[in-house]
Amino acid sequence: MVLAESYEHHVAVLPSPGMGHIVPLLELSKRLVVHHGFHVSFLNITTEASPAQTDLLHSPSLPLGLHVIDLPPADVSSLVNEEMLVLHRLGVIVEESLRCLKSVLIQLGKPKALIIDLFCTQGFDVGKQLSIPVYTFFTPSAAFCAFTLYHPTMDREVEGEFIDLLEPVQVPGCFPVRTEDLLDQIRNRKNDEYRYYFGHVRRLCEAAGIFLNSWEDLEPVPLKAIRENPFYQKISTPPVYPMGPLIKEHEPLTKIDVECLAWLDEQPPDSVLFIVLGSGGTLSSQQLTEFAWGLELSQQRFIWVVRKPTDATASGTFFNVGGDVNDPRAYLPEGFVERTRGVGLVVPSWASQVAFLRHPSTGGFLSHCGWNSSLESITYGVPMIAWPLYAEQRMNATMLAEEVGVAVKPVKGNGKTVIDREEIERVVRLLMEGEQGKAMRSKAKKLQESATNALNTGGSSCDPLSRVAKQWKDLPAPM
Ligand code: UDP
Repeated sequence: MVLAESYEHHVAVLPSPGMGHIVPLLELSKRLVVHHGFHVSFLNITTEASPAQTDLLHSPSLPLGLHVIDLPPADVSSLVNEEMLVLHRLGVIVEESLRCLKSVLIQLGKPKALIIDLFCTQGFDVGKQLSIPVYTFFTPSAAFCAFTLYHPTMDREVEGEFIDLLEPVQVPGCFPVRTEDLLDQIRNRKNDEYRYYFGHVRRLCEAAGIFLNSWEDLEPVPLKAIRENPFYQKISTPPVYPMGPLIKEHEPLTKIDVECLAWLDEQPPDSVLFIVLGSGGTLSSQQLTEFAWGLELSQQRFIWVVRKPTDATASGTFFNVGGDVNDPRAYLPEGFVERTRGVGLVVPSWASQVAFLRHPSTGGFLSHCGWNSSLESITYGVPMIAWPLYAEQRMNATMLAEEVGVAVKPVKGNGKTVIDREEIERVVRLLMEGEQGKAMRSKAKKLQESATNALNTGGSSCDPLSRVAKQWKDLPAPM
């Protein structure tokens, strides 16, 4: 372990496991080191860490001053099993792994601040014991942050299940949330997943400040609401600091990435649809088959990061990101790979997403609408087909399609269990060659520009981090 006592300005960052959490907290840490001269201890929960997570955190390109500290793996073998819902399992892993948090922070030489992920609220207790201010990096959208701040009120006032509400949820100052878009974790208030989830999110107002991975031009309505609507003042919402988009910048390329990027070089600008369903997303066997047929019928160019289908869950690879590499011919429709040769490429399991999104030939992104993927797409000016699968992705998809105007949502026909091939063909054509697709691309390109401006010196996402960094520097060294 690297002792940080010798560093003048030291902060600790604590993400929960999962690429969607690790990536933005790592980018924030890099900024603190490179732009503000901090020493950052990045506390990595190693229990059940995926291969992709390990590669990212042990990449030689991390700046000096950013130290990844692997927390001792906790033995959770008797506490978790494959049947547990994702957040319940994650909650147990975090709880067990953080039993050492206090001693680790003392050993490191107490940092000036601790920045925790939404699901690491054990950090609030340790912060209190050690007199260290604790900030939350809220990794989803600002709209979802407003929803989360409203959630304890809903929990108190609503009897029965939220999904049975007759009207959309009216989040103060924000757009209403349709019950069918509510996140999975709150659809059944009687299960353990809800208990773990709510146990963390109810503590959001204990933070000294909330960092948001968003920016003023992307989410003006929720940001204004959180700052100005009396509801948020009444519940003592801490100051919010929009700092985004903080997205992955550099990532190691695999041999397959390099080959696919070379193929992309040969394609016309904005002509290829890139398809990835996040780090953990999987389709059912029936949906995968329809999807493949729809894509083939569309006759559009594509790169598809494909995973073995699972019928039990839509987040089949969450705990094994990038680990299950197999031959897609075993589960794609017979002859698909051969028939689409020259038009599309199939990549098993994982690709370095940002490298593909930033390529000029990529003209569309079919995404599960995880918040990081959404930000990455907008940052590179790429419009989306929204294919939400789990967590708060349905809310993100609706917002991107209906409020931001950079995505189209395929429609599942009445009484159907999957989105059929004709609908897939329709949305792929609409995005890649239709007028609506052009309008979404132009909106995405405008937001791309505003994202760059937000992060530049003096931009709306640059100032908040500079302000907090200064406050931390002015704090006396912890005793
Ligand atoms: N990602 C990637 N390659 C893949 C799948 C995912 O690089 O094949 C990255 C993606 O760029 C993003 C993160 O993994 O930074 C996924 O985060 P997101 O919030 O979009 O979704 P989650 O995986 O947490 O559901």
